Amino acid sequence: MNAGAPYPELPDERTRWILSDRPPRSPADPRQPGAFFLEQERAENGEVVSVATILLTNRECPWHCLMCDLWKHTLMETVPVGAIPMQIDYALEQLTRATFPTRVTDTFSGAEGVAQVSNLPYRRLPVGRPSESSRACGLEIRDTAGWKPALPASPPRTRNKPGDFSVLKLYNAGSFFDPRAIPLEDHPAIAARAAAFERVIVECHPALVGERVLRFQELLRNGAQATRLEIAMGLETVHPEVLPRLNKRMTLDQFTQAAAFLRAHDMAVRAFILVKPPFLDDAEALLWANRSVDFAFDCGAGVACLIPVRAGNGALEALARRGEFSPPRLATLEAALDYGIQLRRGRVFADTWNLEEFSDCPACFPARAARLKEMNLRQRPLPRVRCCACGGTQ
Ligand code: SF4
Ligand SMILES: [Zn+2]
Repeated sequence: MNAGAPYPELPDERTRWILSDRPPRSPADPRQPGAFFLEQERAENGEVVSVATILLTNRECPWHCLMCDLWKHTLMETVPVGAIPMQIDYALEQLTRATFPTRVTDTFSGAEGVAQVSNLPYRRLPVGRPSESSRACGLEIRDTAGWKPALPASPPRTRNKPGDFSVLKLYNAGSFFDPRAIPLEDHPAIAARAAAFERVIVECHPALVGERVLRFQELLRNGAQATRLEIAMGLETVHPEVLPRLNKRMTLDQFTQAAAFLRAHDMAVRAFILVKPPFLDDAEALLWANRSVDFAFDCGAGVACLIPVRAGNGALEALARRGEFSPPRLATLEAALDYGIQLRRGRVFADTWNLEEFSDCPACFPARAARLKEMNLRQRPLPRVRCCACGGTQ
């Protein structure tokens, strides 16, 4: 326990402070993905495409950011070679085995409809799991109970078949190009599986963007039709004092250079931006979220994902007790999305997972959540929800 001690000013002391108040880690199995689900997302060309998102189980990220709780679903050790491709096979097998129509509510778009889903149980992501940067929303289909680790490799699938997913997100609660998280020996097998998709999105700390990314891109290009590689990086915030205090050990120059490197090599860039990191009030948070969106697009990002900061990792609760953190109001996230979308410089998505924790007004929450989800898909501003109870400000 940090016993109520203030958050250290010295970088070397911050990691110990952050780790000291951690709640227990969730059980994780190297043979099983943490979760996998379908979601819809607005693509570059304006179409709404189906995305197969797989949250891979692997070793914990070596950075220990102040706001991160992705470690809860990670392992202490590197997974064996072959485990990650097996996790992908398992998830894709289940997602493509979708055999019968059923009525579902897409938690991303809010739309109800008939979808082809498998006969497996589905549920929301575990509480505390952010949805972007493994940070997803949507219908989760998860069944690991009956899984045999020795599943055969999925056969290459023809693209654009009805019901196919055109985009694959492989989020690993860290950096895809961290060899202690995803063994390098597995890259060819992963690329072979990703080659069935038009685009694959992986996440990475800017410090690990380099030659390994190019080699993985080369593997993707070996397929009959090159799969576009998109790298998602946490920009977090451009606030000059808050960014260093997040313990991410990343500078804005580093982010700029990593983005330039990726763009120069024909890769797409996605930026994760925090809405209301610690040490800011809601007004400051909106200002800096907007500036961060501007910065992401200046760096050539095609997508900016707005992540409302959620408590749950122990460190944020410790800061909250000191009055240095509170989650954003829903209105702050709404305003940041309004700002980003009206720029028309790229796509801007609000992370809508567990959105209810940011609202105090049950009267208007459903309509406001639906509006955000709709704006994510349409990428145009929609009228604000009026509320007699709260005035739409909660
Ligand atoms: S770099 Fe990303 S995954 Fe790693 S600790 Fe920071 S926020 Fe978490
Ligand atoms: Zn209200």
